[in-house]
Amino acid sequence: MKKNDLVEVTIESMGSAGEGIGKIDGYPLFVKDTFPGDRARVSLTKVKKTYAFARLVELLEPSPDREEPRCAQPRRCGGCQIQGLSYEKQLLYKEEKVREDLKRLGGFAEPPVNPVLGMDEPYRYRNKAQFPFGKDKEGRIVTGFYAGRTHSIVPETDCALGIEENQTILNMILNFMNENHIEPYDENTGKGLLRHALIRKGFATGELMVSLVINGRKFPQIEKLADCLFTIPGMTSLTLNVNQKNTNVILGDEIIPVRGQTCITDKIGDISYQISPLSFYQVNPVQTEKLYRTALEYAGLTGQETVWELYCGIGTISLFLARSAKKVYGVEIVPQAVEDAKHNAELNGISNVEFYLGKAEEVLPERYEKEGILADVIVIDPPRKGCDSACLTTMLAMAPERIVYVSCDPATFARDLKILCADGRYELTRVQPVDMFPQTAGVENVGLLVCRK
Ligand code: SAH
Repeated sequence: MKKNDLVEVTIESMGSAGEGIGKIDGYPLFVKDTFPGDRARVSLTKVKKTYAFARLVELLEPSPDREEPRCAQPRRCGGCQIQGLSYEKQLLYKEEKVREDLKRLGGFAEPPVNPVLGMDEPYRYRNKAQFPFGKDKEGRIVTGFYAGRTHSIVPETDCALGIEENQTILNMILNFMNENHIEPYDENTGKGLLRHALIRKGFATGELMVSLVINGRKFPQIEKLADCLFTIPGMTSLTLNVNQKNTNVILGDEIIPVRGQTCITDKIGDISYQISPLSFYQVNPVQTEKLYRTALEYAGLTGQETVWELYCGIGTISLFLARSAKKVYGVEIVPQAVEDAKHNAELNGISNVEFYLGKAEEVLPERYEKEGILADVIVIDPPRKGCDSACLTTMLAMAPERIVYVSCDPATFARDLKILCADGRYELTRVQPVDMFPQTAGVENVGLLVCRK
């Protein structure tokens, strides 16, 4: 077989990025946009010794598990790898993926994985989106999303995962730019003003934030645009974000207030959080509450415990746990996030929390060696790459009763759990996958490790 060959294949399973996998005489083909049960004509795009990648050319027989995608252009965007699959099957796929990773990469013979906690309504769940602005071939100003792996903008103002207000806001901005001759940023020349619009909504409060990322420090006639945007119910914050660098990083560091507040407020459970345009905040608040409740349950707090939370961000989990613990210490590497965490503690009148700025793998060992700090429970929520080994070693030395591991990547989750369970002192007793990102291949997990006494 060689590149560009056309072949027919039946898809049998799914890979870790949500791609379909079918075999031809035992030789596996990885085909994006296909699902188990599909019979498809595909064209080979990359041929390796033991496997190949292929592109869907024609669906000969659709899988019975397919469902009509809600979005107008799921294939071009590529953000939703499995939108064509029924939601029920999406959840089963994710459960299986977690179980397989724990077996294969974690060495757990029978991992205790619960069914995935899914959503009742798996669309319109995202509270945040960042839309790029540019021009199409005819020179018209457009906004939408980058077509998979490129920087060409596919015009689309209504992402099926996003809030309905996105469309209204984006159309107002487009009209305003056309009427006032405001140019979108051009990556090639470094000229033009508007780069992105960041839109965020507090689902619990209804508050809406728009931050315009600009290649400059002034936005002509911004008051007129503000008048327009503030007619939208819930609109409470309009800011400019300055980004004059030639970079793929969307946001710059500086925020210039325009109208309303710089932050919006949202609630998860009964805790309020103030969120600035620069803060990390979970994008699916409905599922975040389920995730945090699971973490709280697994932490098994009675009010007497000292808890360390590593990778705490703006303190969301720490504050969620604080009312049930004696004391919670959070560790986070981003200075602004630590500031937000402290502020959020105050906002909620929570005084039994303390936040440390620094790397978890440095702060924890240092405190342990210098002060002999102890923990009854350690909660961690690291980024995709997982936990640093210095951090894992110190956690084991501190010997907490329970370790609660929140993870957005099943592979590094399995790898780290293997290390934590290696000497047999800790047992993995529960794993709860939570569907934070319906329609995509992503899955979040909460794992509970219990110290054998
Ligand atoms: N628990 C939070 C944030 C989780 S995201 C929430 O649910 O909102 C992971 C966090 O880890 C990010 O805030 C990131 O800034 C932080 N981080 C990344 N590397 C880190 C490190 N080495 N030490 C401490 N924090 C780190």
